[in-house]
Amino acid sequence: METLTTIGRTAADDPNAPIRHLKPPVDPSTLAHRQLLDGPFWQRIPAYHDVDEATFLDHTWQAKNTITNGQKLLAALQGIVPPSFYQDVAEGFHRAPMSIRVSPYLLSLIDWTNPYEDPLRRQFVPVASRLLPDHPKLTLDSLHEQEDAPVPGLTHRYPDKALFLALDTCPVYCRFCTRSYAVGVDTDEVEKVSLKATEDRWQRAFRYVRERPELEDIVVSGGDSYQLKARQVRLIGDTLLDMDNIRRIRFATKGPAVMPMKLITDDEWLDALTAVVEKGRRLHKEVVLHTHFNHPNEITAITKRGLDRLHERGVLVRNQAVLQRGVNDTIATMQLLVKRLGYCNVQPYYVYQHDLVMGVEDLRTTLQTAIDIEKAVRGTTAGFHTPTFVCDAPGGGGKRVVHSFEHYDRETGISVFTAPCVKPGFFLYFDPIDTLAPEIQARWKDEAEQAKMVADATAQAEANMKASARASSVR
Ligand SMILES: *Cc1c(COP(=O)(O)O)cnc(C)c1O
Ligand code: SF4
Repeated sequence: METLTTIGRTAADDPNAPIRHLKPPVDPSTLAHRQLLDGPFWQRIPAYHDVDEATFLDHTWQAKNTITNGQKLLAALQGIVPPSFYQDVAEGFHRAPMSIRVSPYLLSLIDWTNPYEDPLRRQFVPVASRLLPDHPKLTLDSLHEQEDAPVPGLTHRYPDKALFLALDTCPVYCRFCTRSYAVGVDTDEVEKVSLKATEDRWQRAFRYVRERPELEDIVVSGGDSYQLKARQVRLIGDTLLDMDNIRRIRFATKGPAVMPMKLITDDEWLDALTAVVEKGRRLHKEVVLHTHFNHPNEITAITKRGLDRLHERGVLVRNQAVLQRGVNDTIATMQLLVKRLGYCNVQPYYVYQHDLVMGVEDLRTTLQTAIDIEKAVRGTTAGFHTPTFVCDAPGGGGKRVVHSFEHYDRETGISVFTAPCVKPGFFLYFDPIDTLAPEIQARWKDEAEQAKMVADATAQAEANMKASARASSVR
């Protein structure tokens, strides 16, 4: 006799019936995001040949052995790069507006047999022969962070959120840093604004935050939260969480990308962060970590171990990447980065169009590149793991979605944005000069022509906006 459950059973219910797969077998290369570099990869570097795992994972060893000047880097590279490359780096340092700081971990991840092409080398080590002339529209603080700062180191641009620059040092110095006006030590090229981690300066920033009831959300950055002492993480976290108006705090750090071992061996720092996150949770407030991975090679088995510890402690991590030429400006690389971050429980939050930073034209891409890559990334994974591609509008307009320009003249490379909730006026982004046609490059050399190209682009933006306002029912 048949039981009730088998009555009316069809082939579709039979667990042993063959399954028709519809999709062809998966190409194994599409699962590469799960293959993380493991083993003693650092021993490829002569200077670290005898360094064992326990030593390499010790964050104090990493900090102590971090390379902080050109001479030391050149010494570490001796014998592993050709003399011509060595010369090129020496000359690159001489011309760079940013200080140098490279951890042994980072140095070990660079393929020194192919240093010109390596995506990590491009981000942290300048080579003179690859530098390109700056666009005439570049300035040192293109985002006008200082102009929008009511007290030193606190930028209040958006209505309900502010950016607190707690200190001016980082565990690494990136060539492309948008805050090269302050971050790092003075270089041949730039004398920096000082934003030391002094608690007196912080008190003024805290007072301002307390006096602005509309502020709910504070980004603690720098510099870099990794450099804060455990005590300082608690002090900043507790002070902000104790304010009734504050609902959200993000600690921003590039640390997990350049020195993940701190998450494994610096229990004091991790405990301090965890305590702030837990206090926030008890107060029904959100405290999260924002980090900055740009390339899938930055995520190794060591990184995953560190990120797993954050996940176990309930610390949510989001990523903000910067789109960079020769680093992550291909569809395959960006897809791999996004998938690998998701695999490690990091939410890809933003991909930034490269800011108009001086001395790094070789790293900037056109706006079109961001638009094209965004289209290819959206749809590959969960929507909450799909980053928004934004352009931080030069002049303080804030972040705008790259597709949302009012006008984009691909010939002159000018894109025009508006930011109605942030600031009136037009905000212009400029594609790198070397990507433009020779006759347009010639026009950019002439000041009258520059003014004309800018006036034409803004006039066209105005016309486009009038046309869409006529068609729109939004008021
Ligand atoms: C990016 C930024 C923020 C935070 O903006 P989100 O879009 O919420 O991530 C706040 N203040 C300033 C000045 C910023 O540049
Ligand atoms: S870690 Fe961030 S703040 Fe520090 S140098 Fe790099 S981009 Fe700039």
